[in-house]
Amino acid sequence: MGIYHVGVLAGDDIGPEIVPQAVRVLAAAAEITPGLEIKFGDFPIGAAAYRATGHTLPPGTLEKLAETDGWILGPIGHAAYPRNDPDAINPHPIIRRHFDLFANVRPARSIQGIHALHQNVDLVIVRENNEGMQPDRNMFKGSGEFMPTPEMALSIRVITRHGSGRIARAAFELARAREKARATAGITHPIGDGPRVTIIHKRTVFKLSCGLFVDTAREVAAQYPEVQVDEHQVDSFACALVMKPQTFDVVVVTNMFGDILSDLAAGLVGGLGLAPGLNVGERYAMAQATHGSAPDIAGRNIANPYAIMISAEMMLDWLGQRRCDTAAIRAAQRIEQAIYRVIAENIARTPDLGGRATTTEFGDAVVDLIRSSA
Ligand code: ATP
Repeated sequence: MGIYHVGVLAGDDIGPEIVPQAVRVLAAAAEITPGLEIKFGDFPIGAAAYRATGHTLPPGTLEKLAETDGWILGPIGHAAYPRNDPDAINPHPIIRRHFDLFANVRPARSIQGIHALHQNVDLVIVRENNEGMQPDRNMFKGSGEFMPTPEMALSIRVITRHGSGRIARAAFELARAREKARATAGITHPIGDGPRVTIIHKRTVFKLSCGLFVDTAREVAAQYPEVQVDEHQVDSFACALVMKPQTFDVVVVTNMFGDILSDLAAGLVGGLGLAPGLNVGERYAMAQATHGSAPDIAGRNIANPYAIMISAEMMLDWLGQRRCDTAAIRAAQRIEQAIYRVIAENIARTPDLGGRATTTEFGDAVVDLIRSSA
């Protein structure tokens, strides 16, 4: 029996509306999958935790998360937290750093029937998560952004051989796994010519930092001869992504470039409501949608739970793959198929996708399909 301990951190604004739907679909899949049990534990975080305990990341949370296998983190609306209170921190960079969740895996995939700028897109952006330009996570102590004088602001960008090597390995492993899954399912990638990793950089300008990133990624590439490799400058890649996103499979990229490009990719296939993400390290996985806490639509039960559901499904698949647990992998496939069917067959669509379903009704529809697949 595969038993998984999953933490649930609802987050802010739409978080308490969408995260429970992700929990429901995991629970429904476990219910109908022999040999799979998922135990959930709630952890307060964000504005609600601040109101209850005076901390947006209550003391002891990291220690308790360390006892789980992975967790679902709802969106964090830290822009609305009180300023100048050190207990009102943005918790997610701290969690990513503490558990060394160095890879942020962000798929952008077309869904049949969804009106979008492009169809037949199936790519994944593998973004380095703990270095780069993000000032709240690229330093041991202090901030990577500072002002030596009131008239000058500086930002430090951190690129290491270690960080570049492991994100590249994560990308090549993913390309290999995606090709294997396509072969098993008897399908081909829209470009139809095997696994491919695209390395993104701006080494013409950042000769040392992007140079180190690309050279390290090339060294890793040599260990995966069956994977095709190409390289793009980030600016020309942005153009290629907008014009022909179908030609990309796995894209490996540094932190800030990846953050921007993954939102762009989400926009090509239907928007931020359709942008899942998984943060992974050596030992833990954290499901976290790419979108923010959407305060403009919070409290109305109309947010699209697709991204957080797919993120949770990706986490279950990742945990199952690590343990070679076919029950968990099969359950993740059932969840994915059910979610795609609900949207593609227009069984339920939230308003951002042109439908009228509430967040809860979308969850109901996915749960019903999962149960009927037993
Ligand atoms: P952050 O900086 O925290 O990533 P953001 O400023 O990019 O956040 P979001 O909170 O992601 O902004 O919201 C951007 C727009 O997308 C808003 O109009 C919001 O309502 C919409 N949006 C985001 N997530 C969803 C969702 N799950 N369902 C429907 N609409 C969403």
